Amino acid sequence: MAKSIVMSEMLNVDLALGKLIALIRENAGDIDRERIPIGDASGRITAETVSAGIDLPPFDASSMDGYAVIADEIETYRVTAEARAGHPSNTRVVPGTTTRVFTGSQMPPGANAVVLQEDGTRDGDTFTRTAPVESGENVRYRGNDVNKGESIATIGTRLTPLRLAWFAACGIETVVVHKKVRVGIFSTGDELADAGAQLAPGQIYDSNRFALNALMAHQAAVVTDLGRLPDDPSPIRATLEQAARDHDVIVTSGGVSVGDADYVRGVVEALGRLDFWRVALKPGKPLAVGRIEDALFFGLPGNPVSTIVTYLLFVAPAIDALSGTEPTAPIPVPANLDGPIAHKPGRREYVRGQLTHRNSALTVTPTGDQSSNRLSTFAGANCLVIVPEQAGDLEPGTAVDVLLLTDQGALL
Ligand code: AMP
Ligand code: MG
Repeated sequence: MAKSIVMSEMLNVDLALGKLIALIRENAGDIDRERIPIGDASGRITAETVSAGIDLPPFDASSMDGYAVIADEIETYRVTAEARAGHPSNTRVVPGTTTRVFTGSQMPPGANAVVLQEDGTRDGDTFTRTAPVESGENVRYRGNDVNKGESIATIGTRLTPLRLAWFAACGIETVVVHKKVRVGIFSTGDELADAGAQLAPGQIYDSNRFALNALMAHQAAVVTDLGRLPDDPSPIRATLEQAARDHDVIVTSGGVSVGDADYVRGVVEALGRLDFWRVALKPGKPLAVGRIEDALFFGLPGNPVSTIVTYLLFVAPAIDALSGTEPTAPIPVPANLDGPIAHKPGRREYVRGQLTHRNSALTVTPTGDQSSNRLSTFAGANCLVIVPEQAGDLEPGTAVDVLLLTDQGALL
């Protein structure tokens, strides 16, 4: 069933991503789900709508330290009770009386406003207001954050610490999420050595496997490291056959260009199907996308920067789509280019940059030599400058768009 579509035309980056997501949707089965504690749910994707189990806040509360009153013309009150957070008072507030309250105190019965303690003076049992007061002032009403039964997450929502904090406030203990996408990764190349090994002549350390592992850590994925394979079709074949059985995605790096020693393509073509895409992208033009049994296959170019960029642009959104959420396009941020970029029209280039905020403006400085083997110029980058396909050399001062990189190395 070998089938290879060799594209002679270069594919635009956006079209390539669209094609990829369409391919995933075509083959999408139901994703298994599981119920887990919210403490373990950061980064996971909801498989069920989540609704608030309570009104939040659960009662009308004071938002400040002060005196709970009925807002009217009266200015002098007798302090008849005190309500602390967690210790409500049953004493009814009537015209001319007040209950001493604190931030988070349940509003005492009868009161409809809180006068700040600094907006009056206290003398024994008497509080005298020195500022006007309006009904509702300094009161957080029951349900003002959310009402019981209202949706606090739809299906397909990525659970962030911010949303999970809201879940916790609503008393949610567990949540039904999609199971993690199972990703198997391996590197190919006779020249590769593992960390700790003494480098033989002609060898380099394998950085792509490390990079992919670390980059996927923030995704809803569980990564199996299948190691590093030589440029030899039989171990590549054996590993791919086994990997396809128990993974949703297989990501390899190296061995997909047109060099003699590039065996991965042939093996994938023999085992399943492979589309070889020439993406109008720099770095990372060759990208192999295929399928072996039910597993989606990515053959990323071996140069370390190309591996990372193609992961960011294609593999990360694919894992999002497979994990049950809509991949979101990264947000282009306008900035002023500080320094030239040499560019030949043809491919869209992503240039490693350092974005800074200076004199109320965003400025981006390319990090230096952009060769696709140079990780030194990725190490300190916090963004990628988008150089459009048709652009020529960019002069300093050019208005560009950049994509922000998070501390986890993801596109924002
Ligand atoms: P390839 O795509 O296999 O032709 O490799 C392109 C370049 O990337 C070569 O210089 C390789 O030595 C290098 N390379 C391939 N795989 C890795 C890896 N896992 N770590 C670091 N460099 C790699
Ligand atoms: Mg190679």
